[in-house]
Amino acid sequence: MSGIGTVCVYCGSSGKGRESHRTAAVDLGRRLADAGIRLVYGGGQVGLMGLIANSAIDSGGTVIGIIPNFLDELEVGNTRCTELIRTPNMHERKSKMAELSDAFVILPGGLGTLDETFEILTWRQLGLHDKPIVVVDVDGYWAPLRAMVTHMANERYTAPEHLDLLTFVDTVEDVVPTLSAAPAPTHPIDSKWT
Ligand code: AMP
Repeated sequence: MSGIGTVCVYCGSSGKGRESHRTAAVDLGRRLADAGIRLVYGGGQVGLMGLIANSAIDSGGTVIGIIPNFLDELEVGNTRCTELIRTPNMHERKSKMAELSDAFVILPGGLGTLDETFEILTWRQLGLHDKPIVVVDVDGYWAPLRAMVTHMANERYTAPEHLDLLTFVDTVEDVVPTLSAAPAPTHPIDSKWT
C-alpha cells in the first residue's frame, strides 16, 4: 500500500438501483477488509451504504461510520460499526470523513453522493489535500459525470489538468490496485479551511 490505510466510500443511501450496484457494494466491502484497509462511510444501514459496511464487517474489517444526529433515525445508524461517530451536522460529518481518510472511492449513488464527490474534488482542486479520488463506473453509471466534467473543461470552466484529479475505473476489482499504485498523500486536510 502506498500509505493508503483508510478509505472513505461515498455511495447511495438507496438500494433500489441495479443488482450490479448492490453486488459491487458488497464486493468492495469484502475487498477492502481483505486488504486490511479501514472503511470510513456515512454510518447508515440503508442502501448501498449499509451493504458495503456490513460486508466489510462480516469480512473482519474495521469500519468507522460517521452520521449526523438528525439522520441517525432516517439512515439507521449502524451500531455494528467498529466505531460510530455522531456529529452535530452535515458539514462536520463530511469534514470528519475527509480528515480520517487517505483516499476516496465513489460507487453509484444519488445527490448526496454527488455532493460529497464534488466537495472532495473541489477541495483537491484548491490544494486542500492531495488524496486519490477513484470513481467506480459500475455498468457505466458515472458516464454522464465523466461527460459533464469533460464538457466543463472543453468550455473552459475547469482546467484540463483538473480532469486528472478523478480516476475512473470500471469495476471494484480495480479499486485496491489503483489505490496501491497512487502516489501517497503528502499532507493532511486542515479542518481550518473546510
Ligand atoms: P444519496 O446519494 O443521496 O443517497 O446520499 C448518500 C449520502 O449522502 C447519505 O448519507 C446522505 O445523508 C448524504 N447526503 C444527502 N444529501 C446531502 C447533501 N446535500 N450534502 C451532503 N451529504 C448529503
